[in-house]
Amino acid sequence: MKILSVNAGSSSLKFTLFEMPAKEVIASGVFEKIGLGDSFYTIKYSGEKLRKEKNLFDHSIAVNTLIEELISLQIISSLEEIEGVGHRIVHGGSEFLESVIMNEELVQKLALCNDLAPLHNPAHIMGIKAFMGAMPNTPQICVFDTAFHSTMKEKEYLYPLPYEWYEKYQVRKYGFHGTSHRFITKTLSEYLNRNDLKIISCHIGNGGSVTAIDSNKVVDTSMGFTPLAGIMMGTRCGDIDASILSYVSKKTGKNLDELTNDLNKASGLLGVSGISSDSRDVEQAAEEGNPRAILAQEMYAQKIANYIAMYNNLLNGADVIAFTAGVGENSKHMRELVISKIASLGVKIDVSKNDFRGEFRLITSDDSKIPVYVVPTDEELMIAIDTMNLVLNNN
Ligand code: AMP
Repeated sequence: MKILSVNAGSSSLKFTLFEMPAKEVIASGVFEKIGLGDSFYTIKYSGEKLRKEKNLFDHSIAVNTLIEELISLQIISSLEEIEGVGHRIVHGGSEFLESVIMNEELVQKLALCNDLAPLHNPAHIMGIKAFMGAMPNTPQICVFDTAFHSTMKEKEYLYPLPYEWYEKYQVRKYGFHGTSHRFITKTLSEYLNRNDLKIISCHIGNGGSVTAIDSNKVVDTSMGFTPLAGIMMGTRCGDIDASILSYVSKKTGKNLDELTNDLNKASGLLGVSGISSDSRDVEQAAEEGNPRAILAQEMYAQKIANYIAMYNNLLNGADVIAFTAGVGENSKHMRELVISKIASLGVKIDVSKNDFRGEFRLITSDDSKIPVYVVPTDEELMIAIDTMNLVLNNN
């Protein structure tokens, strides 16, 4: 069966078409600058790459164009061949605790989460509505970044703030990257043939989060009410003292929205290094001896290591640690630096095993107290798996 996995942003729409359950990618691509005038799209299929410019006035036009192209490129013979569409949704609030088949009523319920993720959820809803319009008879499934974290207990997800902020305004930790952490958990559980693993999953990309998992359930995760919390990231600050905001506001005259923007977009690796949010650029500058790049890298690795140590304690000893996402999968240097900072846990890297990028591999020595694996993540596939399962169960 063919399953489409989509990720709708405010001006973009990414898609991957899978043959399931073979997990084979038939086509993938992205529609960019939707509604911005100079829009275009690319589609990769059978070793070919198509790029076209077209005025994509809104998401509905992008979706209809996608369907027309899939048919005209003979990737599918008719719309009915696609048996389900899975949508990546950043925030499911406290309502959506697992993947669901959407209907009009649930779309309205999802819109109530818009305030919790104003940059993402309204765009996802545009995507869902566009697909519902273009494919009214095809199940539309939502897969939430927050859902995997819904097993956290109150003592982990509550902030030590006035309780009524939680009761009245849903201020609590939600956690993100859940679809990726779930994929890592599934991959390791299947590979090691165990359902009771205690895993510390480190998703280190442009955004980053560390999650503690016990027997397939999240115990705690580093991101919080929003994806700003936790470890230091490409442009996000991670955990900081909240008083900094009022202090810098008084000093600079910037308002809260402007400062929050600085915490999200001008901080992290970019803020400290002053060079780039991309760890490749920072790595290169550090190699050339740039002191702020070296400092940024040290801080970046230390904060990841601190979360690993904290979660090792929370789990009462982890069975396995995993690195994933852009930096975790590709940067042997960052993996080595992080592991050098958790030596007290008895974790020992094998430098010769760590010399690669982008594959599933063990990178620690035989006498390492906790094995560390690199596990390439695949959120699109996880969305396709959920979509397939819900479509099959619904028939
Ligand atoms: P993601 O958000 O998972 O797509 O990760 C994006 C980040 O991965 C980029 O900002 C890069 O810093 C990082 N990255 C990708 N390839 C490499 C590489 N070969 N070495 C170091 N970092 C990399």
